[in-house]
Amino acid sequence: MYLRPTDLDAALNALKGGRLAVLAGGTDFYPAQVGRPLPDDILDITALSALRGVREEASGFRIGALTTWSELLATPLPAWFNGLTLAAREVGGRQVQNAATLAGNLCNASPAADGVPALLALDAAVELAAHDGVRRLPLASFVTGSRRTARRTEELVTAIVIPHWGERARSTFIKLGARRYLVISIVMVAGTLEADASGAVSRAALAVGACTEVAQRLPALEAKLLGAPLDPALAGLVEARHLATLRPISDVRGSAEYRRDAALTLVRRALRQLAHE
Ligand SMILES: Cc1cc2nc3c(=O)[nH]c(=O)nc-3n(C[C@H](O)[C@H](O)[C@H](O)COP(=O)(O)OP(=O)(O)OC[C@H]3O[C@@H](n4cnc5c(N)ncnc54)[C@H](O)[C@@H]3O)c2cc1C
Repeated sequence: MYLRPTDLDAALNALKGGRLAVLAGGTDFYPAQVGRPLPDDILDITALSALRGVREEASGFRIGALTTWSELLATPLPAWFNGLTLAAREVGGRQVQNAATLAGNLCNASPAADGVPALLALDAAVELAAHDGVRRLPLASFVTGSRRTARRTEELVTAIVIPHWGERARSTFIKLGARRYLVISIVMVAGTLEADASGAVSRAALAVGACTEVAQRLPALEAKLLGAPLDPALAGLVEARHLATLRPISDVRGSAEYRRDAALTLVRRALRQLAHE
């Protein structure tokens, strides 16, 4: 069975029983099927126009689940989205960005997904809908492991929701790979900082990807940054112990030691970039 409904309720009803495989841009879905038979029952959600686009609401920004990386890049957004748009430019090449959705990136839950740290550093939440209701989960609770999420098989992700940051907020994203384009991350760092009227850090969110099964925020460092002047000296506050929760693996792309060292360097670099903006 191949379903491509145009109506969200019809899609959610079709998901009752949870037997259908959900298909969005297909850029993770199809590569994962290589060498295997395709699933018998597919729910193609690409005709659900209600899930397209980015819009501002009272509480923040709502990125519909079908929004592609290219559509995000074409949307005028506040400066504090800079980190997410930098990540968008790093996801594959143009063809991938034209088809691939942000929500698909989260649902696929790769440890190297570029969207996860960038969205963690914006305090994003994930909206999930089923035939019997809607719920929201903080992104940190949604991605539960490598290729694992808290999504029930009867649920669709319908949106990514990002709370407002203040006018003085700024964000960045740095990806380290073995080459410049079309590369799986070795380490990624994303950060968002907001300053108060005196120029002191009043809100901080920093996340490191590809160094644990699920990208991690750095709460000890975030706490240390609060109240400090938002200037390049912030980088000097970063200590190795602030990254102690990282558990990088050694693989063909880099050793665990290299990843740990690179993460420390990139966190400092990200803070210097944010201070110079
Ligand atoms: C050549 C190439 C290069 C790439 N480079 C990068 C890269 O640099 N960085 C990076 O992070 N990723 C990269 N990717 C991976 C991929 O493009 C992204 O993860 C993409 O954002 C996935 O979105 P999609 O819409 O294609 O998801 P799909 O492939 O359609 O789906 C992915 C998974 O999410 C589920 N899903 C999708 N949408 C929903 C929904 N709304 N509700 C419930 N479940 C859903 C699907 O069932 C499936 O399990 C690359 C892929 C390719 C092919």
